[in-house]
Amino acid sequence: MAMFTFRGSGRSKWATGAAALVVSLPLLAVPQAAAAPSCDPFTPPVVDDSVPTAREVLGTDLGEREVTTEESDTYLRALADASPNVVDGELATSVQGRPLRYAVVGQEKWVRPGALENIGRQLNRLRDPNTPEPVAQRIIRDTPAVLWVAGNVHGDEESGTDAALRVLYELTARTDCTAQSILDNAVVVVLPTQNPDGREADTRRNAYGFDMNRDWFARTQPETEGKLEKLRELPPQMFIDAHEMGSPDYFFPPNADPVYHDIGETPLNWVYNVYGPAMQQAFGRFGIPYFNGESYDLMYLGYGDTVPLTGFNAAGMTFEKNSGDPVPERVGEQYTAIWATLMAAGAQDRQLLAEWRGEHVEAQRQGAAGELEPNQLYWNDGEITNPVPDIAVKHYFLRTDDPAKSAEVQRLARRLQRMDVDVYRLTTPLEVPDYTEYGRAEQPATLPAGTLWIPMAQGQKHWVQAMLNENSYVPFPYFYDVTAWSGPLVENISGGRSGADLRPRAMPLPEQPEPVARPVVDAPRTAVWQLPGGSAATESAGWLRWWLDDQRMDFGDLTAEQIAAGALAGHDVLVVPNGSDQEAFDALGEQGRAALTEWVRGGGTLIALRDASRLAVRLGLTSATYAEPTSDIPGALIRMQVDQDSPLAEGVGPTAWAMYEYEAVWSAPEESSVAAFPAEGDPDWYVSGFAEGAEQLHGKTAVVDEAAGSGRVVLFGFDPNYRAFTNGTAKLLRNAMTGPRPANAPQAAAAVRAVPTAATPGRLILSVRPAVADQVQRLIGERGASAEVVRGPELVRFKVDLGGLSADEHPWARRLADQVAGFGRDVVAISLP
Ligand SMILES: [Zn+2]
Repeated sequence: MAMFTFRGSGRSKWATGAAALVVSLPLLAVPQAAAAPSCDPFTPPVVDDSVPTAREVLGTDLGEREVTTEESDTYLRALADASPNVVDGELATSVQGRPLRYAVVGQEKWVRPGALENIGRQLNRLRDPNTPEPVAQRIIRDTPAVLWVAGNVHGDEESGTDAALRVLYELTARTDCTAQSILDNAVVVVLPTQNPDGREADTRRNAYGFDMNRDWFARTQPETEGKLEKLRELPPQMFIDAHEMGSPDYFFPPNADPVYHDIGETPLNWVYNVYGPAMQQAFGRFGIPYFNGESYDLMYLGYGDTVPLTGFNAAGMTFEKNSGDPVPERVGEQYTAIWATLMAAGAQDRQLLAEWRGEHVEAQRQGAAGELEPNQLYWNDGEITNPVPDIAVKHYFLRTDDPAKSAEVQRLARRLQRMDVDVYRLTTPLEVPDYTEYGRAEQPATLPAGTLWIPMAQGQKHWVQAMLNENSYVPFPYFYDVTAWSGPLVENISGGRSGADLRPRAMPLPEQPEPVARPVVDAPRTAVWQLPGGSAATESAGWLRWWLDDQRMDFGDLTAEQIAAGALAGHDVLVVPNGSDQEAFDALGEQGRAALTEWVRGGGTLIALRDASRLAVRLGLTSATYAEPTSDIPGALIRMQVDQDSPLAEGVGPTAWAMYEYEAVWSAPEESSVAAFPAEGDPDWYVSGFAEGAEQLHGKTAVVDEAAGSGRVVLFGFDPNYRAFTNGTAKLLRNAMTGPRPANAPQAAAAVRAVPTAATPGRLILSVRPAVADQVQRLIGERGASAEVVRGPELVRFKVDLGGLSADEHPWARRLADQVAGFGRDVVAISLP
């Protein structure tokens, strides 16, 4: 069993500009109420027989086998019909039209018609720091906390659903002291499945192929959008996201570092000092093996733990149970973790809401003072190699004076407003003495009337920083996901920050609707060819299909066999998302390769994304070449320069931000290179996120546009539609599909080239100093795994083949990464697919 050795952060030091800061304070005094619950959480249940059991309604006990989504919905209905303490409803409709059904259980006076709405209103007043203190105190006294239990966001990780239903049943039926001790102080929202389409299809992703545990801040999918809107209506103080994974032992927080720097200390304290210990106690009591502090970090803002933490100041937590274990064990352990946590929440009584309020007030104070929270390590021994810099941020601004960007500004403003951020519009021009544009040096500026102003002095300060930051300031180089996501960068909107005391004249911005794409006049007849290549290929194709639908562009899907049989005839454009070019080349066969090449040379437009672009090289359709990267860039936003004479530049502007994630390094003749990374010393050069060795990209090509015969190839070295949230570069893709062809485009080379070995998407990348390379090699060997090894004088890089699986799906990728992370400063970068 894992040892529980908490390294608490204590209260934040609010150190602005702290140098490397490792906080290692003794364990906080455990809040008094949580120390000894008066009621044993696992006392034998005493139940009210009038509440229907799952066996009575569904003919099975919960935990006997996995229920279907329909059975889950039926049981929610049955409980709501039978008990005045339960109401149910739908919070979203999935891509395939299934309801996301939830239930709320609580005291009758709190769940009867109108009462829940009022609780939501009161809690939203409580989280507003401007609500007068006496009103806040009354709300704290009279209002229950809202605790959320959600499962199955990954559709093939089922047990969270069944455990959530068991929790709902027990909260409804139990008459012993347990349920009452929770419901004395809280209502519990139960969302058994966040991904009904995935549960039905037994797939991790939703029907569009999105990993919805990466979609939270961007909220592109209807399941995410509906969930966030219900969270705003019933704002949580706790959010449990129950998953499954491949490790034998159960995981619950404390999490692994890194932790995103601007998360409030209050919800982190709950997670690390209240709920973590409560689960530890329960698992210890029943002898259930578990681990903490490894694998599951709190960095990326697309997760079901980081978003509740940062956006709601709630205790957002990921639970993980081995998916290979029998159903009763999986459901039982999920239940144990959830129940122990709910009991610990109930034991906090009124203190929970008082502290929750306090964090919002504190956030506003930090924002008024321009303080960013420092990077801290909460668990690891080690070193912060990348501290949050010594800058004051009191205001963010988004320019609105480029009419070509109105949809992008509107989308970002809406996302902010829909996380309860106050957004204003300047009514008169504003002098900003220290204006710092994204990725530029500080320079005085006069911002025109109409500019959007987002003050940091508000209760949502942490979320504002998380969404509008220039950089995520990853504390040390361990990456479970991408390291950059800033809204103005992914939307390619001009904006900046100030740390000055300003008194802007401004009006609140009216609620913004989601922008609707203009329909395309004379739309091209478009086909999409999804390549082989595991999870990475599935996702890129899914993002593309979702985006084409959102852009209201019709398309049909083609396979390699259909291409070989001549199906490209009648199409104007073929878009090929990311995938394995080697497998695609093989799948086409000789006939398919000839058909594709002839179609392009005869006038077709081939648009390829990321690794699919290598296929154009193999087919002799481009003069561009590529090399494997020697840099370590596990998902950063890098500014590139866009040729203003290119039709791709329409509405984009002179620069845009490429999401770069261990992509190939492309070279093309200058006239074909329509977007490129800036040369060394160019002030346009800026990287948001972690990068080592990025100098390799200076002057290199990012997007190629060339004629091939009477056709055309447009090659993106990166995915311009990454998770469908990089709208700034998706515009280049839209222009490539719908815009005019470039006049006098250079002709591509005619001959097939020898090409380097193709990349396999879905590799674990371990970049280390030579001193520990042998140890890493040994760890890989112990797993019986194969790795491609690139040895340099400063750096040894291992690319471990995960067979096309993501790290979540893979049985040991995360554990291996954790072991290598233990080599500390000899680790340059670790990137999990
Ligand atoms: Zn999962």
